[in-house]
Amino acid sequence: MSLIDGFGRSVRYVRLSVTDRCDFRCVYCMAEEMTFLPRARLLTLEEIATLSRAFVELGVEKIRLTGGEPLVRRGIEELVAELGALPGLRDFGMTTNGAGLVKHARALYRGGLKRLNVSLDSLDPERFRALTRTGDLARVIDGIRAAREAGFQRIKLNAVILKGRNDDEVLDLVEFARKEQVDISFIEEMPLGQNMSHDRGETFCSSDDVRAAIETRHTLLPTTETTLGPSRYYRMADSDSRIGFISPHSHNFCAACNRVRVTAEGRLLLCLGNEHSVDLRAVMRRYPGDLERLKAAIVAAMQKKPERHHFTTDGDVQVVRFMNMTGG
Ligand code: SAM
Ligand code: SF4
Repeated sequence: MSLIDGFGRSVRYVRLSVTDRCDFRCVYCMAEEMTFLPRARLLTLEEIATLSRAFVELGVEKIRLTGGEPLVRRGIEELVAELGALPGLRDFGMTTNGAGLVKHARALYRGGLKRLNVSLDSLDPERFRALTRTGDLARVIDGIRAAREAGFQRIKLNAVILKGRNDDEVLDLVEFARKEQVDISFIEEMPLGQNMSHDRGETFCSSDDVRAAIETRHTLLPTTETTLGPSRYYRMADSDSRIGFISPHSHNFCAACNRVRVTAEGRLLLCLGNEHSVDLRAVMRRYPGDLERLKAAIVAAMQKKPERHHFTTDGDVQVVRFMNMTGG
């Protein structure tokens, strides 16, 4: 069995949000004051495991846990161990802000998690604090090192670049990635959620601008490598670190989209930039233990996957959900 949408795209990758909560309040992701979901509306860990099993039985090869911040969800280590043992799951990753890695990295690795993406937008402690509103840079850097010591290979940093906020740090972030022997992807900011702290039209920084900044120091060699995600990768001749660009605005990647997302409430979102969704929590709570019914609901939902997103760079909000609701 496999998941094919109405445009012939095969869905092999699911991003699962395990919580909408977070210990950070990044300016492009959340408002300063947030109201989070009551616990009863979140999928239970059991429901998340059931959903994951259903997806893998439907041909999904890659699952990435995200949030909110996945490491603030109680029981995350047990969930990782359960999913890590799913036969057929070839690639199992997590996107984290890194603050909890000193505490959790070993157990995650032991549980079968294979890949870690750690968000890091600045190497200046004060600026890091301003961008995340609460984050402690030293703790995140310690977390990245703890993850490497725990055994994680090919850790990837994710940096959202905002003009006037951190675009002058692109080269420093590349040097950091080279020194720490990790990969790094630069992300264009997406218009998700009402944004109070900056005007997105003014802060937009395209991947082409970021690449041009890097090319003042390094020659970037394009590669065809893929991690089933939207990054386009480049290599440098003198380093093992890869440099990726996630460019929803400037290089639309919808034609090759192989992904769906599940929110912390169990809403299957067919596209990051649209509202088309199906309530899988309702299916699981109405028919507990009925995996076949759940799988049928997922197969049927594929026909709702839209052809593409319609993000623009003029600062308009196109999707009212914040990224932490979506599972970035
Ligand atoms: N808390 C984890 C973290 O920060 O890595 C996982 C969830 S976070 C929503 C996932 C990724 O989405 C992060 O790399 C973050 O930088 C990115 N992100 C959040 N809001 C965004 C936005 N409006 N545009 C582009 N990327 C965004
Ligand atoms: Fe939290 Fe990640 Fe959103 Fe930052 S980007 S507020 S760390 S969920």
